[in-house]
Amino acid sequence: MDAELLEAAEAAEGFMPPAEGLALFEAAVRYAGRGPVLEIGSYCGKSTIYLAAAGVEDDVVVVVGRSAEVARLWRAPLGMVFIDGGHTDAAAVADYEGWAPWVAPGGVLAIHDVFADPAEGGQAPYRIYRRAVRSGAFTQVRREGSLHLLERTGPGIG
Ligand code: MG
Repeated sequence: MDAELLEAAEAAEGFMPPAEGLALFEAAVRYAGRGPVLEIGSYCGKSTIYLAAAGVEDDVVVVVGRSAEVARLWRAPLGMVFIDGGHTDAAAVADYEGWAPWVAPGGVLAIHDVFADPAEGGQAPYRIYRRAVRSGAFTQVRREGSLHLLERTGPGIG
């Protein structure tokens, strides 16, 4: 990753340890060829810098709206979906149900803040992560801290 962008990403406010940010960057580089990279949830843009450092800074499009409402209008397969939105069950489920079906075959679903132990963090992201794995549509290809990367290897998302 470009040193200047790495510095900007690390300096940006947000909740993304450097190792997880680099994993996100590497995933964007690897999967962007399969379709657009979509991020759900942006606080101060820290993870967006990691995602766009794949050389697409000029191609970032910001969509302001509720994730579920935007998903209802969406019609294009995605190379990567990064779920890092609301951490209530309702929000996480809406993000999963609205966007996971749009992950192209061979694309990747990334979920942040996945904690198996409730003492470490809220369980909503963990529950949609479990659901994605159980569906048989996704296969885990990498884990970096609380960031889990699941490649689309099957049809129905369940
Ligand atoms: Mg997060």
